[in-house]
Amino acid sequence: MPELPEVETVVRELRAHLPGRNIVRASLTASDLYRRGSSKISALAGARIERVDRRGKAIVIALRPRRDQPARLVVHLGMTGQLEWNAASAIREKPKHLHGRIHFSDGSELRYIDPRRFGFIFVGTPEAVDETLQMGPDPFDITVEELAQRLFGRKAPIKSLLLDQHIVSGLGNIYVDEALHRVKMHPLTPGSRAAKQAAEILDAARVILDRAITARGTTIRDYRRTDGATGEFQIKLSVYGRDGEKCPRCAGTIKRIVVSQRGTHFCPRCQRAPRVSAKKDGTSRAGRSRREAPRPAGYKQSR
Ligand SMILES: [Zn+2]
Repeated sequence: MPELPEVETVVRELRAHLPGRNIVRASLTASDLYRRGSSKISALAGARIERVDRRGKAIVIALRPRRDQPARLVVHLGMTGQLEWNAASAIREKPKHLHGRIHFSDGSELRYIDPRRFGFIFVGTPEAVDETLQMGPDPFDITVEELAQRLFGRKAPIKSLLLDQHIVSGLGNIYVDEALHRVKMHPLTPGSRAAKQAAEILDAARVILDRAITARGTTIRDYRRTDGATGEFQIKLSVYGRDGEKCPRCAGTIKRIVVSQRGTHFCPRCQRAPRVSAKKDGTSRAGRSRREAPRPAGYKQSR
């Protein structure tokens, strides 16, 4: 699934092609790909592309509209979406699962291909886009304090919280696993506990994302760049998809568990399981109230 580095790679490539181009006509054959409230993409005929930006995992294309045309086109690649650039001199054969096409005045074409159709298209005003996307800041924008605040008091595992696009946008399964490995944090660590290490989490996420952007993303299966090439970060992954292999840091054996229905990869040796601070019935909360480090289940306090 394309995450921040893959989408950022696509955005950078689109920036080299799209700004200044005039749309002659645009179509979307799979109408279920429209996000609720979207105008039809055909309404963009005659508009000129001004800018290409990324918001979390969404691609936001700003247009100079004619009269009352919508000024934004949003493309979310979902699980298997791909934007394919075709220069006028090199139009490729029509691929399978081609759902959207934008034709430009010079004969070039941008295509939206998506086998599983979990992506979406939204055409509307900038305000409507804000309302539709409703996502938290991405790891490059959020501050340590903001992240700590969003994790504070949450019982859910850090893995699930970092996947929640309202809390922080752009991260998905691959980079959350990689970032947590870098911080040596178990994926089941409750958010409230993880909040204390918000600075380390953020730092790890940024380092991993930066490296992945440099490698032009990770291709596990479907992700392709706009010219059809794959990313290269997959060979640098430490834990994601490597269950049974050795941890590159401590030589422990990488394990796979399921958290929030997502395959989660970690090293049980250097990402220790969270220790339990209270009995299940909630009678013992001494550890928390005295601001002590939480103790493992069965730990006896000396008197
Ligand atoms: Zn390890």
